[in-house]
Amino acid sequence: MKQYFNYHTHTYRCNHARGDIDDYCQEAVKLQMKSLGFSDHTPLPNERWPNVRMHMDELAEYCEQIDLAKEKFPQLNIYKGLECEFDINLVNFYQDILLGKHKLEYLIGSVHWFPVGSTWLNSWRAPANVANLLAYSNYIIKIMESKLFSFIAHPDLFAAFYPEQNKNSEQCAIDIITAASELNIPLEINGYGLEKKQIKTSSGWRNQYPWEPFWEIAGDYNIRVVANSDAHKPSNVYGKIDEAIEVAEKFNLQVIDIFK
Ligand SMILES: [Zn+2]
Ligand SMILES: [Zn+2]
Repeated sequence: MKQYFNYHTHTYRCNHARGDIDDYCQEAVKLQMKSLGFSDHTPLPNERWPNVRMHMDELAEYCEQIDLAKEKFPQLNIYKGLECEFDINLVNFYQDILLGKHKLEYLIGSVHWFPVGSTWLNSWRAPANVANLLAYSNYIIKIMESKLFSFIAHPDLFAAFYPEQNKNSEQCAIDIITAASELNIPLEINGYGLEKKQIKTSSGWRNQYPWEPFWEIAGDYNIRVVANSDAHKPSNVYGKIDEAIEVAEKFNLQVIDIFK
């Protein structure tokens, strides 16, 4: 194992993952991992996209279970987090409710949907055009500017809806990476993308993400990266982190531990 921690972990509460807090802790102990961060999909006060996340009234119990696990598994550093969709109108929710009231120790910023006009497009299924690339990069930059998030999960997810490498997709990468560098926000190389089914492009099949051209461009900038498994089942608590780190190594990117 190339590192002994993972800070991107889901539980059954999001309705598309398996296992609970203790199940992941037991797996992590088995692997002799040192740190484990929980980051289930955050509930949203407006209950948007309710099928892939816990509800607001489950949040207190989720936090409680993590606090209990900290006592049950003293051999692990356990961190209490959430992976968040961002909504500019909910800044007070992230700040006062999540980080304040519920004492979350970190938040991950993620763009599984992004706003275009008055609607939200899905980052896997948006039509592949330049306007949507721009909407995606603008939104992810807004998330970084909010300074609420410890890192940005799979920033290269746009490569799932925009399969081709050309000056448009490269510019999207440059815009995101430049902002991450200026705002000093780590970007995540996400191991879960390596387990998903590949997509077809004009130059053959490739992973949805990590998208290598993105990380190749990142290699020219002064940025920090994190490598996580994005576990959706306990047996994946470490998952493809080593392969994610290999992408970082290939392009001389510095992999960090956000809690060090
Ligand atoms: Zn998920
Ligand atoms: Zn995730």
